[in-house]
Amino acid sequence: MKKTLFVIGTICLCMLSSLIIPHTSFAEKNLEDIQKERKDIKENLSATEKEVTTILTEIKEMNEEIEEYNATLKANKKAIKEVEKEIESVEDEIDALEKKIEERFEILKERAQSYQTNGGDVGYLEVILGAKDFNEFISRLTAITKITDADAELIKEQEKDKEKVEKKLEELEGLKKELKAIEANIVEQKEISLHKKEALEEKQTELKDKVAKLEIKDEELASLEDKILGEMAAPISGGTSFAVQTVDGGGALGWPTQGGYISSHMGERWGKMHKGIDIARTDRSTSPPIFAADDGTVETAGFNNGGYGNMVIINHGNGLKTLYAHMSSINVRSGQTVSRGQQIGVMGETGDSQGIHLHFEVHLNGALQNPVSYLR
Ligand SMILES: [Zn+2]
Repeated sequence: MKKTLFVIGTICLCMLSSLIIPHTSFAEKNLEDIQKERKDIKENLSATEKEVTTILTEIKEMNEEIEEYNATLKANKKAIKEVEKEIESVEDEIDALEKKIEERFEILKERAQSYQTNGGDVGYLEVILGAKDFNEFISRLTAITKITDADAELIKEQEKDKEKVEKKLEELEGLKKELKAIEANIVEQKEISLHKKEALEEKQTELKDKVAKLEIKDEELASLEDKILGEMAAPISGGTSFAVQTVDGGGALGWPTQGGYISSHMGERWGKMHKGIDIARTDRSTSPPIFAADDGTVETAGFNNGGYGNMVIINHGNGLKTLYAHMSSINVRSGQTVSRGQQIGVMGETGDSQGIHLHFEVHLNGALQNPVSYLR
């Protein structure tokens, strides 16, 4: 019964082939170009997206740097304020000391006056009172050895105090200068980081633009691809569909998945021999089941490193074997008996695969067969 159907199917296919090959081979060539272009776009997209990720990391680093500068600037400002406060208090100290020295000057003048009143040396008084300012007064006093030890000691101490405070003021002003220099440097560094960040953000916008454009182009190509596939699937003779098989065609083998269409035929493809047919999903949001094309025994079930990914081979007897590749998961084990239409896995893109599809091969006595001949 099956054999008869198979023979009829083959005859039908031969008749169909002569009618449809001129139509499909042109569309297929276009389709392959489109699919190749989409593959390039996909690669370009993934590279661009990687670049965007790198830039995002760099922007994050820049933000961290700017934050650090802000924190340092804040701490620096605080330090400057503290130094300014200290400068103020030291200046007050100097003022107080100057006042004290002024007072001491008055006391010494009075003492000199009383010395004269009590019959002291008039020349001595004249010399001292003739001083224009305190410094001259001190030097004149020092010159006249008649001054008492206590007086000399007092003046010396006051001079020392003033010197000390003035030195402290100098140090503080130096520190303030240093802090101001640090501040200027950080402001400059921060400015550089801000510019860098701006440039990175500009580049990011550019790349996002590029991604958007590539996505639009890919969408255009996808709809073109769908259109060509639709044309390939259009009724050619007697209202039958060549590429789209949504039901068991009643041939030697059953359609190995739910719905879908042949997205690539057997034969030379991109300089390589394509050993079977590819069946793609009609609805891109689903994960269609994969069915055993006929009764048989599972010969192989597992991951294949040669590019097939998750792969199942079923031996149907009489030298006929079918191969199912790229599945996302496998439902059967090696040695298991399966019946026609039984689910053996789920459509996927494991192994060397461009997008989710089923790669389906038919072997008869070890020789590759065109699966299409068996499905009709
Ligand atoms: Zn394939």
